[in-house]
Amino acid sequence: MSYDYELLLSLLPRHKIYWPKTTPKVALPQWRWPPLKPYNGFTSDERIMNWQLGRMLLDAGMIRKPKTCDICGEVKPLGFHSENYHCIRMDPFLCKDCHRILHQRFRYPDKWLELVDRHQQMVPTWYAIISVVPIDMAGYLKMISKRGYSNQKSVQQ
Ligand SMILES: [Zn+2]
Repeated sequence: MSYDYELLLSLLPRHKIYWPKTTPKVALPQWRWPPLKPYNGFTSDERIMNWQLGRMLLDAGMIRKPKTCDICGEVKPLGFHSENYHCIRMDPFLCKDCHRILHQRFRYPDKWLELVDRHQQMVPTWYAIISVVPIDMAGYLKMISKRGYSNQKSVQQ
C-alpha cells in the first residue's frame, strides 16, 4: 500500500510570511542537544536546520504563532511540528503533549489514535491521516523534484 503524500501535503498549513518586525539575526540559533533521530526520511541535520530557520522567522516576527494547538485546540505554549522539513510554512503548531504523543505514535499507536479520535473534525485534517508506520516524505519530495526537473528539461529542448 502506498502512502498518499500529496493528500498530507495539501492538508498541512501554509503560514503567511510577514515583513520582519526586527532585523533577523545573521547567525542562526545553535542546536545545543544531541542529534535527532530521522523522521519522515529527513536527517538530523535537515531537522535541525528547519528548527533554526523556524526560530529565526519567529524571532523576527515573520511567522506568527497561533494561540491554540493545531490538534487539541487548547491555549498552551506551542512549538513547530514538521511533517515536511523542507517547508517551514507547512509546519503546524502543537502543544508539548500532542507533539510528544505524535512522535511516539510508532511505539504507542493506540495513544495517538485515541488523541486523533478525540479531536476529530468535520473537515479533513493533516493529523487524521498521518501514518502510524514510518513514511519517507523526504524520499517522495526528492522523487517528485527530480521528475519536475526532467520535465522542465524536456520542455526546454
Ligand atoms: Zn495539543
